[in-house]
Amino acid sequence: MAPKNEPSFRESVDLMFNRAVALMDLSPGLEEKIRVCNATYTVRFGVRLRGKLETFVGYRSVHSEHMEPVKGGIRFATGVNQDEVEALAALMTYKCALVETPFGGSKGGLCIDPRKYDEQELELITRRFAYELIKRDLINPAQNVPAPDMGTGEREMAWIADQYARMNTTDINSRACVTGKPLNSGGIKGRVEATGRGVQFALREFFRHPEDVAKAGLSGDLDGKRVIVQGLGNVGYHAAKFLAEEDGAKIVGIIERDGGIYDPEGLHVERIHEWLQKHGGLKGYADTHFNKDGARLLEAECDILIPAAMEGVISLKNAKGIRAPLIIEAANGPITAGADEILRHKGTVIIPDMYANAGGVTVSYFEWVKNLSHIRFGRMQRRQEEARHRMLIDELERLDRYLGDAWSMRPDFKEKYLRGADELELVRSGLDDTMRIAYQNMREVWHGRDDVHDLRVAAYIVSIGRVASSYKAKGL
Ligand code: NAD
Repeated sequence: MAPKNEPSFRESVDLMFNRAVALMDLSPGLEEKIRVCNATYTVRFGVRLRGKLETFVGYRSVHSEHMEPVKGGIRFATGVNQDEVEALAALMTYKCALVETPFGGSKGGLCIDPRKYDEQELELITRRFAYELIKRDLINPAQNVPAPDMGTGEREMAWIADQYARMNTTDINSRACVTGKPLNSGGIKGRVEATGRGVQFALREFFRHPEDVAKAGLSGDLDGKRVIVQGLGNVGYHAAKFLAEEDGAKIVGIIERDGGIYDPEGLHVERIHEWLQKHGGLKGYADTHFNKDGARLLEAECDILIPAAMEGVISLKNAKGIRAPLIIEAANGPITAGADEILRHKGTVIIPDMYANAGGVTVSYFEWVKNLSHIRFGRMQRRQEEARHRMLIDELERLDRYLGDAWSMRPDFKEKYLRGADELELVRSGLDDTMRIAYQNMREVWHGRDDVHDLRVAAYIVSIGRVASSYKAKGL
């Protein structure tokens, strides 16, 4: 039964957790230990801006320390509150376990509308917030490693990394205190687009299993599938761009803060993104297709719906009207527990957030490893690989000459084969592998157990099982 009243985000996550643990055999007390949030730190600090002192409220929540460091983004948004960071921290625990990144779960946030401040002011505010967290080890390469989330990006991560380095001048691993940094501050290639890329890889893996595709009443592959995306920010933009450019999907709807655009003929993601950067909204881009009530578009006709903005957008209010047979949760918690119940009964297939948007933390893990090893991926082996490949090419060329017209190497083979993988290719390969394996792990539970009917419960069962064994190994 769907709950009558909408639960809070935190309650929603717990309700979904409870649905999964009811099907598991956890030792007494362990269930509670895993579910609860270990600690949430609230900080209030003042920054002198435009001649007066402004007070800000921020949070860093640590959900589970079964593995350390704990990991999770920092969000800058006006709606940030304790309930939200705790829900997001819990999701981080389950997400990291599901995609096997060796972290516990955490999340942070600052109540702020970043669009109201200029770059210099934002730097002051970010550094001050970081200072408060660093001095309590809530940012630390061995204990707590943030990353970007809504309203933050490479720029903020670079400020945080620099603030940490200033306060810990002898820490040789200081760059590993935060991920999602720009390349020149210790970042890794492919991190900016990682979450959107992960959404693409998740959908590709889903479409590799015709049995699963049929459950959503769909068939074939991604080519020509009609997609609606909500939120053309970091995650939504990259997911939409890659799906359109590389998989032939047709982006028919884009929803932003000020409204949505729908065109069954397909939309040009790149042009709309440019417009959005310039004008701050979709209004004026294509008036014939513009609808001021963007949320209505969530209910429009499409094959795949990608909510990639924020939590709670599909709720008891609009769940019945959702027509998409397949939803991939690129945002965290876009479907409330009540809406989830309604959608499941309708037969909608939901690829859950903890899996769908795990591309970000996966590549963050690669970045953290890179920072700790102080060497770029591929630096040692690339030329050696190339030399070995050259030996084979030399032999093939000899054969080519010997066989004359009977056989010859394809013209581009030599170049492609000789080129060793660079950092970006390695990151993509690692991400692809992670997304495939995690999907297969969920799928085994989904198809292998009679009492599991959806991917979300399957995902929770896999991840809670891993967190539980980690606690057991510690003797808890
Ligand atoms: P972002 O700030 O880059 O983009 C969010 C976009 O959504 C913006 O374009 C914003 O204008 C739009 N938006 C906000 N409220 C909206 C609303 N009510 N309706 C329509 N559009 C709205 O943020 P992001 O990093 O892309 O994060 C989006 C979601 O993905 C969040 O739930 C976040 O927790 C999740 N996520 C992000 C990452 C990451 O690596 N950035 C990783 C995992 C999960």
